[in-house]
Amino acid sequence: MRIDPKLRRTKMVEEQIVARGVVDKTVLDAMRKIPRHLFVQDALADRAYTDSALPIGEGQTISQPFIVAYMSELLQIKPGHKILEIGTGSGYQAAVLGEMGADVFSIERIRKLFIAARTLLFELRYFNINLKLDDGTMGWPDEAPYDRIIVTAGGPEIPQYLVDQLADNGRMVIPVGGQKRKQQLILVTKEDGKVTETDMGGCSFVDLVGKQGW
Ligand code: SAH
Repeated sequence: MRIDPKLRRTKMVEEQIVARGVVDKTVLDAMRKIPRHLFVQDALADRAYTDSALPIGEGQTISQPFIVAYMSELLQIKPGHKILEIGTGSGYQAAVLGEMGADVFSIERIRKLFIAARTLLFELRYFNINLKLDDGTMGWPDEAPYDRIIVTAGGPEIPQYLVDQLADNGRMVIPVGGQKRKQQLILVTKEDGKVTETDMGGCSFVDLVGKQGW
């Protein structure tokens, strides 16, 4: 890479994330630190800090930096929170959550991506990130409940398993809607057992494939 990756990250955070209104310092600091270019294929490393999603193989994508920041901020994460992620993909979003001091449990259904993410996150010494190869629409019941849940693929509705595994006073962000990468980002909160859904705007994710997905 010709330009220093650290400089590129500083620029990415200022121009794509701070400029669009994300203020959570723990999110911004994590994204200034994590070497995003290692989470994409070598041939795309030069584009790792651009304002877009990028292919990671198997028809899947690493999310655009802004959406990673926006979803992470919506979750209002505190160190020690237990977080479930559905759709590990490259492992980048998991690294952001891990860097913020959360205990992360992340599920991926495609073996090749699962193995690549496991190898990289181990090399980067994120020992607070636990990965599993499985259908994430069923959640990870053995470790439930979760303070926070983040789903990084879009399905037709919110899987009931995930709502059930969300702790009281918990927050979940999940893209919901049609196929072809057009969804609404929904914030789900649970207070005293009462579940509330708020539409946080349009978004574009790959399909959530599984028992409670497509
Ligand atoms: N968070 C990822 C984004 C990955 S794209 C990152 O930072 O790179 C979404 C991922 O969700 C894909 O890798 C896809 O294989 C995975 N996925 C789709 N449906 C799934 C399911 N039911 N369970 C687990 N993973 C799923």
